[in-house]
Amino acid sequence: MIIVMKPNSTAAEIGAVIARVQEVGATPHPIYGVERTVVAVVGETRGVDREVFLNLPGVETITTIGAPYKLASRESHPDDTIIRIDNIVIGGPEIVVMAGPCSVESREQVLETAHAVKEAGAQILRGGAFKPRTSPYSFQGLGLKGLEMLAEARERYGLHIITEVMTPEAVPMVAEYADILQLGARNIQNYGLLHAVGRVQRPVLLKRGMMSSMEELLMSAEYIMSGGNYRVMLCERGIRTFEKYTRNTFDLNAVPVLKQLSHLPVIADPSHGTGRWDAVPAMALAAIAAGADGLIIEVHPHPSAAISDGPQSLKPERFAELMPRIKRVAEAVDRTLSTVANRQPVPA
Ligand code: PEP
Ligand code: MN
Repeated sequence: MIIVMKPNSTAAEIGAVIARVQEVGATPHPIYGVERTVVAVVGETRGVDREVFLNLPGVETITTIGAPYKLASRESHPDDTIIRIDNIVIGGPEIVVMAGPCSVESREQVLETAHAVKEAGAQILRGGAFKPRTSPYSFQGLGLKGLEMLAEARERYGLHIITEVMTPEAVPMVAEYADILQLGARNIQNYGLLHAVGRVQRPVLLKRGMMSSMEELLMSAEYIMSGGNYRVMLCERGIRTFEKYTRNTFDLNAVPVLKQLSHLPVIADPSHGTGRWDAVPAMALAAIAAGADGLIIEVHPHPSAAISDGPQSLKPERFAELMPRIKRVAEAVDRTLSTVANRQPVPA
């Protein structure tokens, strides 16, 4: 249920509505829009009489959200959600590019890649310190040491950091190092983890599960948002189909459809979406043309020696060639490519 306040409603009137929602045992989520405020009411609302709210001062109308995801739905929040991380603005007219290795492998590898992607104009460095691997015998990541290497790269090159968190217990530690928490495709229905990231105030990149529908992705976003963390980005990274020539089937449909269903930014991952470096540039451009708000791309200085996901990693020079093409496609769809230096690099 959505309680729509009148355009000129006062803070006191909004406060009274919030208090009344709590009294009936539901949870209020006020959404302060440009034109007006709405209060999304989530939780058990079946027995709640709408008249209770309709008669309160400042209330204009009450509507029902048809979708099972409430806070994530475009119905509850017609304006696009804008996520600000220092000077980076995700979800507005600017396209934001996150790039880096699949896994943090060594200090040299992270610093070399960070330098290269920064030079090419990326703003956010990716790299997994905790790796969700299909086999328990595969490299599982450098853990805390990997986070420290990312932090060093951040300071040295003035980048922001996105890295995966795999367990609820690790959330506080990873949140100390990361500017954005990545939730991987294999963890999209790890409800303990969704609750845990819902309780921290760090933006979250939520990757679509390889067998998740768009609705399931949005329901996972709803878990995070209902915990109080509204800074969620949805990530299309390919789904599993019968096709064998690509690792996953990059579902470009998801980009415009998620943008219609939800107000949350949509980020595309053509690296996992295709699984092959030679298809990454085309699909990166296609995702921007389709309306994605940003890209996350795997880049490795020596893909053939990469510990994970070498076959889908771009060499730094190919990534550098791609960036001006992303800029041109962005401009063709009335967007711009954001390459502003946001953090002041610390001299080495
Ligand atoms: C990754 O980003 O390296 C990764 C493991 O992605 P996904 O969860 O989409 O497979
Ligand atoms: Mn990877």
